[in-house]
Formats: sequence, C-alpha cells, structure tokens
Amino acid sequence: GMCAGVCPTGSITPKFETEKVWNALNDKKKTVAVQIAPAIRVAIGEMFGLEPGEVSTGRLVAAMKLLGFDQVYDTSFAADLTVLEESTEFIDRKTKGEKLPLFTSCCPAWVKFAEQFYPDLLGNLSSCRSPQQMFGSVARKTLPEQLNVKNEDLYLVSIMPCTAKKFEAQRDEFKTDGHRDVDVVLTTQELGMMIKEAGIDFSGLTPESLDMPMGFKTGAGVIFGVTGGVSEAVLRFAAEKLTGKKVAETDYNQVRGNEDIRETEIEIGDIKLKLAVVHGLKNARKVAEMIRAGECDYDFVEVMSCPGGCIAGAGQPFSKDYNYKQKRQNGLYVSDKGLQLHKSQDNPYLQSCYADALGGEPGSHTAHELLHTKYKTRRRIESDHIEIGSEDEAKIS
Ligand code: SF4
Repeated sequence: GMCAGVCPTGSITPKFETEKVWNALNDKKKTVAVQIAPAIRVAIGEMFGLEPGEVSTGRLVAAMKLLGFDQVYDTSFAADLTVLEESTEFIDRKTKGEKLPLFTSCCPAWVKFAEQFYPDLLGNLSSCRSPQQMFGSVARKTLPEQLNVKNEDLYLVSIMPCTAKKFEAQRDEFKTDGHRDVDVVLTTQELGMMIKEAGIDFSGLTPESLDMPMGFKTGAGVIFGVTGGVSEAVLRFAAEKLTGKKVAETDYNQVRGNEDIRETEIEIGDIKLKLAVVHGLKNARKVAEMIRAGECDYDFVEVMSCPGGCIAGAGQPFSKDYNYKQKRQNGLYVSDKGLQLHKSQDNPYLQSCYADALGGEPGSHTAHELLHTKYKTRRRIESDHIEIGSEDEAKIS
C-alpha cells in the first residue's frame, strides 16, 4: 500500500492494525469490546458471497464472538446519542438565531476538510463528537464498572467504513489522560480479512445478538450510514421537541435520495427549517462557498464526504454490482423498519445512560465534557489534494 514500511505520514498499514487486534484478542488480561458502524452490516456479507444490502448484523456478531471479542456493541447506539446532543444544539442555535447553518460533524474527512479550507466556518460546525468517539468516551466511562475491568485492560476496537475514522481516533481531543479512547479502528475489509484468516464460514453462521446496553439502538441510529440519514434522524427528534407532541410520522422522504445537493424546507409548528443534504467533498465545497458568500440561508447542512454516505466508504468491500450503493442504502432503511423504535429520544437505554453517566439531560455540563469537542484551523493546502491524517497537522495552529 501507500504506507508500506516506514510511514512518513504516520498512518499505519492494515496488516499492523489487524495484528494489534489479534494480539489484544490473544491477551488474557484484556477485555476486548468492539463497536460496529451502521454501514458495515449491509456490506461485509459481500466478501462472503452475500448480496449488497443484505443485513447481516447477527452473523457479524457470531463471527466476532468466534474471533474472541468479548462484547459486541453497535455504533448506532452512539448515533442515537449524537442525535440528542446535536439536535439540542441545533434547536438552541435556531432559537437564538446564532451560528447558522449548523454543519454536521460526524464525518471526520469533512471536519478535516473544513479545518483546512474553511477555518472561517468552523464556528458553524456542530461541536458534537462523532458517534464513534461518543461511543469511545461513554464506553470508557461506563464499561469498567459494568464489566468489572480496569480501564487499562479494556481494549476498544471500532469497525468503520473508512480510514478517515482511523485518523479521527488518533486526534488528541479524543484521548483521556494521554490514552486513546478508541484503541484501534479496522475497516470493513480488514475485519473481513480477519474472518477469512480464521477460516469462518460467514454466510453459514447462526446469527447472534448484540450485547446490551450499548448494542441497543433505534432506527434513527441505523440510517446514519446513508446520505440524508443524519438529517432525517434530527428531524424525527426536532418534530417532537419543537411541538411538544408525539409525532407518528417517521419518514422524511424529502431528505432521501442521491442528488448532489438536496435542499428542503420543512415546517414544524410555526418554525420553518431549511435544510441541505450534501455528499461528496466537491459538493461540500460548493455549498461552503455559497455560505461564505452569504448566498444561502440554510439552518442545517448535513455533509458526508463519500458520495452515497458511509455505505460507500473507501474501507468497504469493493463491489462489482452496478447498483451496490442503492442496495446498501435500502438495506439500512429496511433495517430501520425492522426495529420497533425509530426516534433516538425513545431509546430507553440512552435515557438511563444520561441519568447514570451523562449529567441527566442532553446539553448538560457532563455531556459537553464527554461528548463534544473543539476544532482547530489547519494550514490551507493550496491544491485539490486532501491529505487526510497528515502528521504535520498537529503543529499547525
Ligand atoms: Fe468515512 Fe465517508 Fe462516512 Fe465520511 S462519509 S465517515 S469519509 S465513510
């Protein structure tokens, strides 16, 4: 690969990363817990002959237990948490008319891009950590007691659809006492390689259940993996929060689809929300330029760097199927429908998580300490080449 041998950019070869996980799994002192991002479940099966979009969460859990993982959790749990924190922040800004539009911050490639090219817009980025990192801090805070393990013996792995998530987990902001919250991030392909190395017949596995409580999620936390999903999840929250009433409707078809930039205006009570859903950094640049020039009045902008969203991340299996994106996207919408709850605010385990560990409610002081972050301006590189994870970023103020 591009970083074989001594790596000048500080990124790490896949081989080394899977080896780290094998070592942790073989270390009897370690308790190894893993989170799987929403996009993984509709793609990993393709490495074992399944169709794109086939939801294989249960087989994924079974495979990981065979590999020796002690606990298998769902990043979607933390995506539900992100919805609560981000929507609370959004409604607050909208009410005050401040720092709008609010840009989403769950895609680290977009965050890095904004830090490099649009430092003047950083105040508009949501201060929320991504679901991966929210999971990391909640796990560090709650699992040692729950699993009766010392924090230094708790090894946290993430399975993510892209390498940008590897660099995110290395950021200084996501360390506690100098120690990374998430120890190692593997891509879908790397996990698939481990499953193959172990000789596991993935497609023939009997499905198993995710572990509790951080394996429990609503459908809102699952659709995060598709472009438009974060916006839809936020709307499911805002519709009830702004009206104070239960809303039966959960589907917002306006934000679904694959157009480069999807604009939509939604009325909730007497409040009008103007949203833009953007995927692909080329399109993100277009929207950022328009906002810089004061040419649009969006309240909320969702940005995913990968065209199609995380389901099409570069760490996902390579597909020869012409319609693979649509099939994987559809898989996540099917998965949403297959769950009983569709709104993050209805997740009962999140409610107890707030009560026990997060200061009682979204936006609390503790929630801010554990679930939010700050951004830094990076040197503006005068080319179209985006160096994600370049080491010199740390020196730039
Ligand atoms: Fe990673 Fe792409 Fe998802 Fe961004 S959109 S988090 S780069 S997979």
